Amino acid sequence: MGETHISRRTLFAAMAGLAGAGSAAAQPQGWPDGARGAVSLTYDDGLNSQLDNAVPELKRLGLKATFFLTEDNAHWRLSDWEALARDGNEVANHTMSHPCALSGYSTTRFAAAEVHRMEGYLDAHFGSDRERTFAYPCGYLGLGHGRRHARYARYRRVLERDGVVAARTTAGGPNRPEMAAADPLHLHAFEPTYEGDTVAPALRYLTETVARGGWAILVFHEVAPQWLHEGDVSVATHNRILEHIAALDVWCAPMGQVFGYVAHRWGRAA
Ligand SMILES: [Zn+2]
Repeated sequence: MGETHISRRTLFAAMAGLAGAGSAAAQPQGWPDGARGAVSLTYDDGLNSQLDNAVPELKRLGLKATFFLTEDNAHWRLSDWEALARDGNEVANHTMSHPCALSGYSTTRFAAAEVHRMEGYLDAHFGSDRERTFAYPCGYLGLGHGRRHARYARYRRVLERDGVVAARTTAGGPNRPEMAAADPLHLHAFEPTYEGDTVAPALRYLTETVARGGWAILVFHEVAPQWLHEGDVSVATHNRILEHIAALDVWCAPMGQVFGYVAHRWGRAA
């Protein structure tokens, strides 16, 4: 946070009224430095286009993000991911091979082959002193057979056994910090360019986040010269969203870092 955060706050002061007057009184208090909300930028799947197209813009704006890697993809440019982590970004678990069809897995096999093995891979290359966070491949929260509740509980136990403290879905509005602290393995997140390559949905989501004093978690996949598929974002749209965030009076930090703060500030032990 430090200097970058202060400079954004100063910038915000010069742009008075951007987020609308009068909403401050209704907000929950408690974000660092009096920020009006928190934002985590997350990038899934360990894609080369993120290294090539997202990272330069993050650096230019002084923002740090979370990259949910799969070994399948990350091994191609491991040294680049290692450099990114050394630069203060978070790298975290998105499983070894990104399985989306989970009904056929036994708990033991899924835990060993996908979650535990990926934690080991991350420990080996990025150190074991990491925030252990997770993003559900394809946004699927259930593991194995049976009723939804049982499948969800099974997946949670796998994550908890590996020390995962926070896990991100791909749906929902801004997180209320007290809810995030109470249910950390189902953090809401938003894919702003899932339907198309426009900035408007992201801006609406961020405005709502600030109005509620919440925590926004944005999800990106390919950051490409042009939007071709659901989940992509063009470089132009990506950069406009990041510029907007940099000008807001929010705390923008990796997911594990924000969660650590949330758990401390709003958790049961707080
Ligand atoms: Zn994914």
